[in-house]
Amino acid sequence: MKGIGINGYGTIGKRVADAVTAQDDMKIVGITKRTPDFEAKTAVEKGYDLYISVPEREEQFEEAGIKVSGTADELFEKLDLVVDCTPGGVGIDNMENIYKKIGLKAIFEGGEDHDPVGTSFNAEANYEESLGKDYVRVVSCNTTGLCRTLKPVNDLAGVKKVRAVMVRRAADPNDAKKGPINAIKPVTTVPSHHGPDVQTIIKGMDVMTMALAVPTTLMHTHNIMVELEDTVTTDDVLDAFEKAHRVLPVDAGLKLGSTAELMEYAKDLGRSRGDFYEIPVWKESVNVVDGELFYMQAVHQESDVVPENVDAIRAMLELEEDGEKSILKTNKAMGII
Ligand code: NAD
Repeated sequence: MKGIGINGYGTIGKRVADAVTAQDDMKIVGITKRTPDFEAKTAVEKGYDLYISVPEREEQFEEAGIKVSGTADELFEKLDLVVDCTPGGVGIDNMENIYKKIGLKAIFEGGEDHDPVGTSFNAEANYEESLGKDYVRVVSCNTTGLCRTLKPVNDLAGVKKVRAVMVRRAADPNDAKKGPINAIKPVTTVPSHHGPDVQTIIKGMDVMTMALAVPTTLMHTHNIMVELEDTVTTDDVLDAFEKAHRVLPVDAGLKLGSTAELMEYAKDLGRSRGDFYEIPVWKESVNVVDGELFYMQAVHQESDVVPENVDAIRAMLELEEDGEKSILKTNKAMGII
């Protein structure tokens, strides 16, 4: 059983910890925390050994009644691989200053740049590229969403070019201090970083993206336009989405026509934390007109990357050579449709 650690037990880290725990070929050895907050308390209550990133704060944890098992550096020595879920930019510092020095394999998240890590990951599109690698970046929630649906479209009909507009949630639900609260905030750099990021996974694809942030915390949505190489029908595309892993065509007509309703659906499915790991594609929006495909999808920013982290662990530790087998194993353990 391979030993995994989580460095940075926040929005993504705590979900990856639970997803790893659900597997039978890897286990969580420990997680790190900087602050003795409710997440630290619940982590210990769930049975995770907690290691502190700032050793001088041990007394604060003790005062809060939170058991400390050691320092982060002590945890790293016990691991086969660490999943670094610290805020963007911190992970690369950790790679240079800690992980490389002790020879520890590490996964980074989408807040880090591709270049310093060298390999970016999406299970469906490029699992094999990460086999045996020491450092891999699981791309951001939006890039994961784009790769999940563009890969099956490319396999079906060949993609000439993609143009996509990403409508981004302003902040995660627990992020009380971020905005906008009452504005639409365009990302005035074109392309937004998402298009170039897709190209780190699906090499050579012509993808241009524009983005804007809106005052919601629930999900992102994407409006996607794809010029196709081959002639296919709308039904062909819907069929490809039905068959694709971690893509879920949904009926807006079943009262699933908004991100709020999709989040309610995830709760009805009994998902931990109300998470939606798949990329929901609104069936009604899928339309092929004169060789061009149009569709709309949503992305649950807090959770779509979580199963990707599990697959990246399997690839890097060579627990499974075949990406599809890993995807199916992860999906089964996490109850993904
Ligand atoms: P977060 O702020 O919710 O959690 C980060 C955690 O790391 C916090 O617990 C924080 O205390 C801890 N931390 C901060 N500095 C640290 C350090 N030096 N050492 C150890 N721990 C430290 O952040 P998040 O939303 O989980 O994001 C983590 C990564 O995942 C980022 O790269 C982000 O871009 C990426 N990501 C986030 C989302 C999202 O929507 N939240 C989606 C996909 C990818």
